[in-house]
This record gives sequence, structure tokens and C-alpha cells, in this order.
Amino acid sequence: MTPPRKLHIKSYGCQMNVYDAQRMVDTLGGVGFVETADAGDADLVILNTCHIREKASEKVYSELGRLRVAKEDAARAGRTMQIAVAGCVAQAEGEEIIARAPAVDVVVGPQSYHHLPELLARAGRGNRAIDTEFPAEDKFGFLARPSAAAIRARGVSAFVTVQEGCDKFCTFCVVPYTRGSEMSRPVEKIVDEVRELADNGVREITLIGQNVNAYHGEGPDGRSWTLGRLLHRIADVAGVARIRYSTSHPNDVDDSLISAHRDLPALMPFVHLPVQSGSDRILSAMNRKHDAAAYLDVVDRFRAARQDIAFSSDFIVGFPGETEEDFRATLALVDQIGYAAAYSFKYSPRPGTPAADMQEMVSATEMDERLERLQSLIDSQQSAFNRAAIGTVVDVLFERAARNPGQIVGRTAYLQPAHVMASPDIIGRILPVRIDSLERYSLLGKLVSATAGPPAGSTASLVTIGA
Ligand code: SAM
Ligand code: SF4
Repeated sequence: MTPPRKLHIKSYGCQMNVYDAQRMVDTLGGVGFVETADAGDADLVILNTCHIREKASEKVYSELGRLRVAKEDAARAGRTMQIAVAGCVAQAEGEEIIARAPAVDVVVGPQSYHHLPELLARAGRGNRAIDTEFPAEDKFGFLARPSAAAIRARGVSAFVTVQEGCDKFCTFCVVPYTRGSEMSRPVEKIVDEVRELADNGVREITLIGQNVNAYHGEGPDGRSWTLGRLLHRIADVAGVARIRYSTSHPNDVDDSLISAHRDLPALMPFVHLPVQSGSDRILSAMNRKHDAAAYLDVVDRFRAARQDIAFSSDFIVGFPGETEEDFRATLALVDQIGYAAAYSFKYSPRPGTPAADMQEMVSATEMDERLERLQSLIDSQQSAFNRAAIGTVVDVLFERAARNPGQIVGRTAYLQPAHVMASPDIIGRILPVRIDSLERYSLLGKLVSATAGPPAGSTASLVTIGA
């Protein structure tokens, strides 16, 4: 019997890349690969790359430099190491990678991961392989599903891709070019996947997509279902205690999504709703197709449906032409909403996007200064939000042992990490915790009762996984 080959995969960027990495591991498991944490010891190293900002892309080439040395070391030791570049840099710069990095054996774009075994075999015969097509067939039908053991090893919270690609064409963004146009997976395929995860101890499902609320997959009735309808269906799967979805576009929030928040206790009251800017002038230049007032209106609709709902967002500072007045409009919007968390980025011109040709660049110093001001405002809102939990009892889904001996860490409904001293038996359970204090971004507290049941309305069973 041939010994298993070792695979090391390193992922950058978004949740979708995390999910894709797992599906690549599952698929390559079928042709004899097992995962290793040590790149130097691997027979195959996959870099699963991100192209969203320049910094993310640059990392790939420096990592490839290190891997070239590891590949030469392996060859000296009589071993063959293959190197594959996957993800959005592979899609955008496939030919350039082949030209610039002779150590790379395979380049594979996000829609072609199911071709990996065949591409690796081709490269093994001495032909470097590149596949950045958008094939007609649906890769999900060909990617292997995880084994029960793999699901259990990955923990109590899992991502499930329901939608991919984007047709919005925001002027700064590479996603429509790297991930292609919008597609949605059929409802029943998603439900089967969720059922399998829940049967193996997963308690929390996050439905993911570049534009997840543009979901329009085919339902069992042959009709196109909205995300709101899909969420209702997922909530019916036994064992699913918490549901989330990410990332949403404000323009695709419809009544079915709002009412899902009103009607489904398992749907967590925490929504990632990127706005990018608070200035109507900049929103228009970004081609976001909504203004600040429309965004505020969407937030109000969510809040009317569920009072305890909280929001996070993405912001870009220093988009071409952004003035101090535009930036102040962003600060004003942040002030008005009051976020529980948010990500903010300096604008990074991406080749091939319309904004990359815009001339009025904001200086690096101004960008740095604006980013600092925005982040300090967001930070103060996040701290206030976290401090408000002190003295209250919150439900926590326990995920794993924490770094400190004896501590177990989980997440609240708002994804705040919460630590308690407890036995690992509580992993996989949702239990009430009295929050005593806050340490940076983590809540510290005590279990109210280790024998308590799941929150009202939840279908959680108190299953312990990983035991
Ligand atoms: N689909 C989501 C939406 O509509 O907001 C966002 C997807 S994108 C992968 C994640 C975030 O990266 C964006 O919300 C934006 O803030 C940031 N981003 C995208 N392109 C960028 C660029 N060229 N420069 C800086 N940040 C960028
Ligand atoms: Fe990129 Fe999101 Fe805009 Fe699509 S909606 S182009 S993924 S920022």
C-alpha cells in the first residue's frame, strides 16, 4: 500500500477561502492526501490566495520565494514537493505566476478546484498546469464532502457556501473578475450539506457568499428561493442551534430576510452589512447604487424586526477623490449607526477595476490619518458594546479549549469571544454565562449553570462533540 501523501494548505483572505480550503482538502483526501501543519514536510503545498488588496497579493510572491527554497531542500533529500497556487490571485495573475515563479507546478482558479487531482497528475508528468476557466459544470457537484471525522475535527461552527460571484461591479473591487458572475447553489444541496454537518456535531452554520443575500437558488418546488426562505429551511434542520450569513449587500435586503430575523430565534441578531462610505458622492463613484439614507433605512428595517440586532460593516478610506468633508460624512454615519464591530481598509487600487484609472488619489498621509480616526471611533463603539455585556447573562456556544489552562472559549450571539473556567465537556453546548469583565475584546465570565438547556426556541440538543 502506498503511504499517504502530505498536503499543506495556507489560506489568505475571506471566509470563502476558508471553506474552499476545506473542500480542497476533502477532495484531495480522495486521491491519497492527508493534511499536515508543516509546509516543509509536505508533498504538496497549496497557497489559497486573496487578491482584494495589493498587500494580500504581494504576500503570495514572498511566500512563493520561501517555498522555492523548501522545494529545493526537499529535492536534495530525494523528495518531490509540488506547489499549487489557488484562489483569486491565481485567477487574476495565472500566466504571470507561471512566468515569475518557476517552482509553481499548478495554478488553479476558484471555479476549477474539482480539477485539482487531474492538474496535479499532469504536473507530475512534467507539464506545469494552469486552469483559470469558468467551467460550465458546477464545481460543487464534483468536490468531495468531508468525512464525519473531518467535520468533528473542524469544530462546532462551520461555513457553507450558498452563493458565489458578484454582478455588482463596485468600481474598486476585483471580485466580479476573479470569482465570476453570481451563482446560487440549489436549496436541497445546501440542506443536505447542513444536515451532514449537524449530524456530526456542528451547532452553528454560517451561510456564506460574496453577496449572500443576492441568493436565488432553485428550491425543491422548482422556483427561485430567497435567502430569507433558505434561512427558514436551514432552521428546520435538527441540531442547528445558530445560523448566520455573510456578506450582505444593502440593496439585496428584502422583506423575507427582515422577517427571518423576526421569526427565527436561531438566526443570530448580528449582521455584517458593509457600507464602505457615508458620503453619497463617494458611494456613487464606488457604484454602490445606494446612498447613505438608503443604508440607514435598511438598518432601521432590521431594528424594527429585532430590537437586539447589532451591525458590523466594512469601510474604505481614501477612495479616489475623497475629501475631508466626504470622510466626515463617513464618521457621521458611523456615529449614527453605532457599530458592534467593523473593518476599515485603506483604498488599494486593483488592476483592471474602473477606480484604478481614477486620477484624484488621496495622499498616503491623509489615508493613514483618516484610517486612524475611523478606527478609533469604531474601537470606542466596539468597546462600549462589549462593556454593555458586563453584569448581564448571555448565551455562549462553546467552541474549544482556550490558551489559558482550564479555560474554555466560545462565542456570544454577537461573535464576542467569551471565556469561562469549565470542563471541556461543555464544548458544543450553548450555555448561559454571567459576564464579569472585559479583557481587550474578550468577555470573561462564569457559567450560570452547566446543566442548563438550550436557549428558548432553539433546536439545540446538548450534544458534546470531539469527546
Ligand atoms: N461583497 C461585500 C460588499 O459588498 O461589501 C464585500 C466583499 S470584499 C471581499 C470585502 C471588503 O474588502 C469590502 O467590503 C471592502 O471594504 C474591501 N475592499 C474591496 N476592494 C478593496 C480595495 N480595492 N481597496 C480596499 N479595500 C477593498
Ligand atoms: Fe465587490 Fe461586494 Fe461590490 Fe461585489 S458587492 S463588487 S463583492 S464590494
